[in-house]
Amino acid sequence: MKSRAQYLREWRLKNPTKASEHNKAYRLRHPERDKENRDREKAKYIKKGRYRVSEEQQRKNATDYARRWREKNREKVRESSRKHYHKHKALHQLHSKIYKSKVRAGRVGEVKAKDLCTLLEEQKSLCAICKKLLSEEKEIDHIIPISKGGKHSIENLQWTCRYCNRSKGNKII
Ligand SMILES: [Zn+2]
Repeated sequence: MKSRAQYLREWRLKNPTKASEHNKAYRLRHPERDKENRDREKAKYIKKGRYRVSEEQQRKNATDYARRWREKNREKVRESSRKHYHKHKALHQLHSKIYKSKVRAGRVGEVKAKDLCTLLEEQKSLCAICKKLLSEEKEIDHIIPISKGGKHSIENLQWTCRYCNRSKGNKII
């Protein structure tokens, strides 16, 4: 005995025009089911590796998906960060202790994007160290490194080229 699916398949082969009209009518009647079906087909294709999306697109899809998921599951997100906090309490406390001590020592200042733009103008877009014209690859350097007690504030910052910043390392120039 023929199964219903088999019967339908044969009928569609014999009556292609009618079948496509039926399909169209079905899609119009049930747009949401149509979308589900198409998504399922697409998923099958992806599984078989036949459906190619660029890596960039894949990353974008994943980020979008993650964002939507977080928006829909705010409570879960809160719960998991609570869990993370309790599980790694010591680490969180250590971080906040370090941050607070930096604030107390005056080593964390506020740096505004506007101030950085002004600084760049003052430097006439030249590297503070080698004086070459800065390209897109300019970097912000702490004149006195944070590790040597330098403050993270605009007075202790300078624009440099990538090369100077990387080769300067922890030295004070
Ligand atoms: Zn330079």
